[in-house]
Amino acid sequence: MKYSRQIIEIGEEGQRKLFESSVLVVGAGGLGCSAIQVLAGAGIGKLGIVDGDVVDITNLHRQTIHAGKVGMNKALSAKQFVNLLNEDVVVETYNTNLNSDNARELTSEYDVVLDCTDNFKTRYILNSVCVRQRKPLVHAALMGFEGIVMDILPGGACYQCVHPSPPDEIGEIGVVGATPHILGAIQAVETMKLLLGLGKMLVGRALHVDLLNMEFYEIKIERNPSCPICGNI
Ligand SMILES: [Zn+2]
Repeated sequence: MKYSRQIIEIGEEGQRKLFESSVLVVGAGGLGCSAIQVLAGAGIGKLGIVDGDVVDITNLHRQTIHAGKVGMNKALSAKQFVNLLNEDVVVETYNTNLNSDNARELTSEYDVVLDCTDNFKTRYILNSVCVRQRKPLVHAALMGFEGIVMDILPGGACYQCVHPSPPDEIGEIGVVGATPHILGAIQAVETMKLLLGLGKMLVGRALHVDLLNMEFYEIKIERNPSCPICGNI
Protein backbone atom coordinates (compact mmCIF):
# COMPACT_ATOMS: atom_id res chain seq x y z
CA MET A 1 0.00 0.00 0.00
CA LYS A 2 2.78 2.41 0.97
CA TYR A 3 4.22 2.45 -2.56
CA SER A 4 0.98 1.91 -4.49
CA ARG A 5 1.13 5.20 -6.40
CA GLN A 6 4.76 4.62 -7.34
CA ILE A 7 4.11 0.99 -8.33
CA ILE A 8 1.61 2.23 -10.94
CA GLU A 9 4.64 3.74 -12.70
CA ILE A 10 7.47 1.29 -11.97
CA GLY A 11 5.64 -1.98 -11.26
CA GLU A 12 6.06 -4.40 -8.35
CA GLU A 13 9.25 -5.77 -9.87
CA GLY A 14 10.66 -2.24 -10.00
CA GLN A 15 9.69 -1.61 -6.41
CA ARG A 16 11.44 -4.83 -5.40
CA LYS A 17 14.56 -3.72 -7.28
CA LEU A 18 14.63 -0.44 -5.35
CA PHE A 19 14.24 -2.30 -2.08
CA GLU A 20 17.17 -4.56 -2.97
CA SER A 21 19.38 -1.56 -3.85
CA SER A 22 21.85 0.47 -1.83
CA VAL A 23 22.77 4.10 -2.39
CA LEU A 24 25.49 6.19 -0.74
CA VAL A 25 24.82 9.91 -0.37
CA VAL A 26 28.07 11.82 0.19
CA GLY A 27 27.15 15.07 1.92
CA ALA A 28 23.94 15.74 3.86
CA GLY A 29 23.83 19.45 3.01
CA GLY A 30 21.37 21.04 0.58
CA LEU A 31 21.71 18.52 -2.27
CA GLY A 32 21.95 15.55 0.08
CA CYS A 33 18.89 16.55 2.12
CA SER A 34 16.79 16.78 -1.03
CA ALA A 35 18.08 13.51 -2.54
CA ILE A 36 17.70 11.64 0.77
CA GLN A 37 14.03 12.64 1.08
CA VAL A 38 13.21 11.35 -2.40
CA LEU A 39 15.25 8.14 -2.13
CA ALA A 40 13.93 7.27 1.34
CA GLY A 41 10.34 7.91 0.27
CA ALA A 42 10.86 5.76 -2.83
CA GLY A 43 11.87 2.77 -0.69
CA ILE A 44 15.57 2.33 -1.48
CA GLY A 45 16.53 -0.63 0.73
CA LYS A 46 19.74 0.78 2.15
CA LEU A 47 20.92 4.37 2.35
CA GLY A 48 24.42 5.34 3.46
CA ILE A 49 24.92 8.95 4.53
CA VAL A 50 28.40 10.49 4.84
CA ASP A 51 28.85 13.82 6.63
CA GLY A 52 31.18 14.93 9.39
CA ASP A 53 29.62 18.36 9.93
CA VAL A 54 27.00 19.49 12.39
CA VAL A 55 23.78 21.34 11.59
CA ASP A 56 24.14 25.12 11.78
CA ILE A 57 21.33 27.68 11.96
CA THR A 58 22.50 29.09 8.59
CA ASN A 59 21.81 25.70 6.93
CA LEU A 60 18.10 25.50 7.63
CA HIS A 61 16.79 27.74 4.85
CA ARG A 62 17.77 25.00 2.41
CA GLN A 63 18.49 21.87 4.52
CA THR A 64 14.97 21.51 5.86
CA ILE A 65 15.19 17.87 7.00
CA HIS A 66 17.53 19.09 9.76
CA ALA A 67 14.76 21.18 11.37
CA GLY A 68 15.18 21.29 15.13
CA LYS A 69 18.62 19.61 15.02
CA VAL A 70 21.09 22.52 15.28
CA GLY A 71 24.36 21.16 16.69
CA MET A 72 23.67 17.52 15.71
CA ASN A 73 25.82 15.60 13.22
CA LYS A 74 24.18 15.94 9.79
CA ALA A 75 24.38 12.24 8.91
CA LEU A 76 22.67 11.32 12.19
CA SER A 77 20.06 14.05 11.78
CA ALA A 78 19.28 12.80 8.25
CA LYS A 79 18.97 9.23 9.56
CA GLN A 80 16.42 10.37 12.15
CA PHE A 81 14.39 11.99 9.36
CA VAL A 82 14.52 8.83 7.21
CA ASN A 83 13.48 6.64 10.17
CA LEU A 84 10.39 8.82 10.66
CA LEU A 85 9.54 8.89 6.96
CA ASN A 86 10.07 5.24 6.04
CA GLU A 87 10.95 2.51 8.51
CA ASP A 88 11.64 0.07 5.62
CA VAL A 89 14.92 1.85 4.80
CA VAL A 90 18.08 0.71 6.55
CA VAL A 91 20.34 3.73 7.16
CA GLU A 92 24.08 3.59 7.76
CA THR A 93 25.64 6.84 8.95
CA TYR A 94 29.29 7.83 8.61
CA ASN A 95 30.21 10.75 10.86
CA THR A 96 33.24 11.71 8.80
CA ASN A 97 34.15 13.69 5.71
CA LEU A 98 35.13 11.65 2.67
CA ASN A 99 38.87 11.80 1.91
CA SER A 100 41.46 9.86 -0.09
CA ASP A 101 42.02 7.44 2.83
CA ASN A 102 38.41 6.39 3.40
CA ALA A 103 36.77 6.97 -0.01
CA ARG A 104 37.17 3.45 -1.39
CA GLU A 105 35.99 1.74 1.77
CA LEU A 106 32.97 4.04 2.11
CA THR A 107 31.81 3.61 -1.49
CA SER A 108 32.69 -0.02 -2.23
CA GLU A 109 29.57 -1.77 -0.91
CA TYR A 110 26.97 0.55 -2.50
CA ASP A 111 25.32 0.21 -5.92
CA VAL A 112 25.23 3.94 -6.72
CA VAL A 113 26.98 6.97 -5.18
CA LEU A 114 25.61 10.53 -5.11
CA ASP A 115 28.06 13.42 -5.10
CA CYS A 116 26.31 15.97 -2.89
CA THR A 117 29.54 17.58 -1.72
CA ASP A 118 30.35 21.28 -1.72
CA ASN A 119 34.07 21.39 -2.56
CA PHE A 120 36.29 20.52 -5.50
CA LYS A 121 38.79 18.43 -3.54
CA THR A 122 36.17 15.90 -2.43
CA ARG A 123 34.58 15.81 -5.91
CA TYR A 124 37.89 14.85 -7.53
CA ILE A 125 38.52 12.11 -4.95
CA LEU A 126 34.99 10.74 -5.31
CA ASN A 127 35.18 10.79 -9.12
CA SER A 128 38.50 8.96 -9.13
CA VAL A 129 37.46 6.26 -6.66
CA CYS A 130 34.09 5.62 -8.36
CA VAL A 131 35.53 5.51 -11.91
CA ARG A 132 38.23 3.04 -10.83
CA GLN A 133 35.58 0.75 -9.29
CA ARG A 134 33.27 1.24 -12.31
CA LYS A 135 30.65 2.45 -9.84
CA PRO A 136 27.91 4.83 -11.03
CA LEU A 137 28.26 8.36 -9.62
CA VAL A 138 25.56 11.01 -9.91
CA HIS A 139 27.14 14.44 -9.66
CA ALA A 140 25.59 17.83 -8.96
CA ALA A 141 26.99 21.23 -8.08
CA LEU A 142 25.36 24.61 -7.63
CA MET A 143 25.76 28.26 -6.87
CA GLY A 144 23.05 30.85 -6.23
CA PHE A 145 20.12 30.16 -8.55
CA GLU A 146 22.09 27.84 -10.85
CA GLY A 147 23.40 24.32 -10.92
CA ILE A 148 24.42 21.35 -13.03
CA VAL A 149 23.78 17.60 -12.91
CA MET A 150 25.57 14.79 -14.77
CA ASP A 151 25.71 11.00 -14.48
CA ILE A 152 29.20 9.52 -14.42
CA LEU A 153 28.77 5.94 -15.66
CA PRO A 154 31.32 3.35 -16.82
CA GLY A 155 32.36 4.12 -20.40
CA GLY A 156 31.14 7.72 -20.27
CA ALA A 157 32.87 10.99 -19.50
CA CYS A 158 33.99 11.51 -15.91
CA TYR A 159 34.14 14.66 -13.80
CA GLN A 160 37.80 15.18 -14.63
CA CYS A 161 37.14 14.90 -18.40
CA VAL A 162 34.96 17.98 -17.96
CA HIS A 163 37.12 19.75 -15.36
CA PRO A 164 40.72 18.64 -16.10
CA SER A 165 42.24 20.58 -13.20
CA PRO A 166 40.71 21.68 -9.93
CA PRO A 167 39.85 25.38 -9.74
CA ASP A 168 40.52 27.30 -6.55
CA GLU A 169 38.00 26.62 -3.80
CA ILE A 170 35.44 29.39 -3.74
CA GLY A 171 34.70 29.39 -0.02
CA GLU A 172 31.25 30.43 1.13
CA ILE A 173 28.89 30.83 -1.82
CA GLY A 174 25.39 32.26 -1.99
CA VAL A 175 22.53 29.81 -2.46
CA VAL A 176 18.76 30.01 -2.47
CA GLY A 177 16.93 27.03 -0.99
CA ALA A 178 15.10 26.03 -4.16
CA THR A 179 18.33 25.33 -6.08
CA PRO A 180 19.57 22.36 -4.02
CA HIS A 181 16.00 21.10 -3.57
CA ILE A 182 15.55 20.83 -7.36
CA LEU A 183 19.04 19.55 -8.18
CA GLY A 184 19.05 16.97 -5.36
CA ALA A 185 15.66 15.70 -6.53
CA ILE A 186 17.07 15.35 -10.06
CA GLN A 187 20.02 13.36 -8.67
CA ALA A 188 17.56 11.10 -6.85
CA VAL A 189 15.41 10.44 -9.90
CA GLU A 190 18.51 9.76 -12.03
CA THR A 191 19.52 7.20 -9.38
CA MET A 192 16.09 5.53 -9.50
CA LYS A 193 16.15 5.42 -13.33
CA LEU A 194 19.61 3.88 -13.26
CA LEU A 195 18.58 1.20 -10.74
CA LEU A 196 15.41 0.43 -12.71
CA GLY A 197 16.96 0.64 -16.20
CA LEU A 198 14.39 3.26 -17.22
CA GLY A 199 14.59 6.28 -19.48
CA LYS A 200 17.54 8.23 -20.80
CA MET A 201 20.40 9.10 -18.45
CA LEU A 202 22.48 12.28 -18.32
CA VAL A 203 25.40 10.69 -20.15
CA GLY A 204 27.17 12.51 -22.97
CA ARG A 205 25.35 15.59 -21.69
CA ALA A 206 24.98 17.54 -18.48
CA LEU A 207 21.83 19.37 -17.45
CA HIS A 208 22.29 23.03 -16.62
CA VAL A 209 19.56 24.58 -14.48
CA ASP A 210 19.15 28.37 -14.33
CA LEU A 211 16.26 29.16 -12.02
CA LEU A 212 16.62 32.92 -12.24
CA ASN A 213 15.78 32.85 -15.96
CA MET A 214 13.94 29.52 -15.62
CA GLU A 215 15.96 27.85 -18.32
CA PHE A 216 16.93 24.19 -18.30
CA TYR A 217 19.34 23.21 -21.04
CA GLU A 218 21.81 20.47 -21.99
CA ILE A 219 25.54 20.88 -22.32
CA LYS A 220 27.24 18.32 -24.54
CA ILE A 221 29.89 16.37 -22.63
CA GLU A 222 32.66 14.40 -24.29
CA ARG A 223 35.02 11.86 -22.83
CA ASN A 224 38.67 12.95 -22.90
CA PRO A 225 40.69 9.98 -24.25
CA SER A 226 43.76 11.20 -22.35
CA CYS A 227 41.91 11.81 -19.07
CA PRO A 228 44.18 10.64 -16.22
CA ILE A 229 41.20 9.09 -14.39
CA CYS A 230 39.07 7.29 -17.00
CA GLY A 231 41.37 7.45 -20.05
CA ASN A 232 42.95 4.02 -19.64
CA ILE A 233 40.07 2.10 -18.07
ZN1 LIG B 1 37.66 11.22 -17.40
